[in-house]
Amino acid sequence: MGHGNAIETDLKKKYGKLGKVLGRGAGGTVRVLSRSSDQKVFAIKQFRKRRPNESERSYVKKVTSEYCLGSTFHHPNIIETMDIVKESGNYYEVMEFAKYELFSAVMSGLMGREEIACCFRGIIDGVAYLHGLGVAHRDLKLDNCVMNERGIVKIIDFGCSMVYQLPFENKIQMARGVSGSDPYIAPELFTTDQHDPRLADVWSIGIIFLCMTLRRFPWRIPKAEQDPSFQAFAKPDGTGKLRLLKLMPRESRPIMSRILEMDPSKRILIGDILDDPWMKSLDHCTMDYMSPNHPHHLGDDGTVVSNPNEGISVLPPSIQGSESGRSQEAPRSIISVTPAAV
Ligand SMILES: [Zn+2]
Repeated sequence: MGHGNAIETDLKKKYGKLGKVLGRGAGGTVRVLSRSSDQKVFAIKQFRKRRPNESERSYVKKVTSEYCLGSTFHHPNIIETMDIVKESGNYYEVMEFAKYELFSAVMSGLMGREEIACCFRGIIDGVAYLHGLGVAHRDLKLDNCVMNERGIVKIIDFGCSMVYQLPFENKIQMARGVSGSDPYIAPELFTTDQHDPRLADVWSIGIIFLCMTLRRFPWRIPKAEQDPSFQAFAKPDGTGKLRLLKLMPRESRPIMSRILEMDPSKRILIGDILDDPWMKSLDHCTMDYMSPNHPHHLGDDGTVVSNPNEGISVLPPSIQGSESGRSQEAPRSIISVTPAAV
C-alpha cells in the first residue's frame, strides 16, 4: 500500500494547531485538534520518534502500516482513521474524535446492567468486524474504548494489531510474544511461544465485561504462580471459575464461561458469541437506533443521554470540554488493594 507519496507535509496548514493531550502510549501521543476552517474536531496521534537503533525505512514502514490498517476500517464501533500528515520529520495520524471514555463511565458506578450489556455488544460487533477482515487488535481493554456523544462505543489504537489472515487464505497466522495489558492478557500467552490472536482478543473482551460489571480487575496478571486470584480461578476442579461467574448477571454466564475458557482450543470464536441467545436478545443501541429502555452515561460527571422519543438530550449541558484527558500515564488501575474475592 504505497501511501508514501500522498503524505501531506503541513499539519498546521491543513488542519490547525494541536490542542490538549488526550493520551500518551508507547506508540505516540494523541492530542485533540479543532480544524481551523470549520472547527471540526479530530484526534491526532503523533507517532513516537524513530529509535536510535531503528532504520528510517523500518520506522516509516511501522508508522504507515498502522495508518494503512486503520484507514481500511469502516464500522460504527471502530474509530475512523482519516489521514496521515508528515511535518518536520514527525508523522501525525488524523482520526475521528469520540470524546468520552468508557473507563470513566464504568468507574462512575452509574452504568446499569442493560447499559453495560449494550456497550459490551458494541465492542463485540467491532471486534467481529476486525476479525472478519483477518485483523486481531491485540490490546483490547477499557482504556482502548471511547464513546461518542450518544454512548456508542468505538475501539481505538491499532498499534499492536496484526493481520493474521489474508483475503482468500484459510491459514491463520499465529502470533508470537506477549501483547496487551497485564490483567487483560489471555493466560496462554505466558505459557506457549505462539498463540491464536483471535482467541486472545476474545479473552480480553471477557475481562472487559468483568471489569464493567465488577468495577475492578479479577486479577493483576493471569499467572497462577504469581497471582493468587488467578490461581483460584484456574483451579482444575472449576470451582474458582464458578465463583467468579456467579458475580456476573445470570443471563451472561453461559457465554462468559466460554469466553473465559482457559484452554484456547476450547474457547469460543467471536462469530459464535453473536449466536448466543443473550447476545441475540440484547436491545442494543446503534448509530441510528437508541434503545428506549436504558440511558447511557458518558463519563464520571453524571452526563447522561436518554429520552430517545424527544430527541437526544445531553444532561447537564454545561459539562462540555472537561479537562480530564484520557492520559495513559495516570495510575488507572482499578485493582482493589485486596485481591478480588475469587
Ligand atoms: Zn444502549
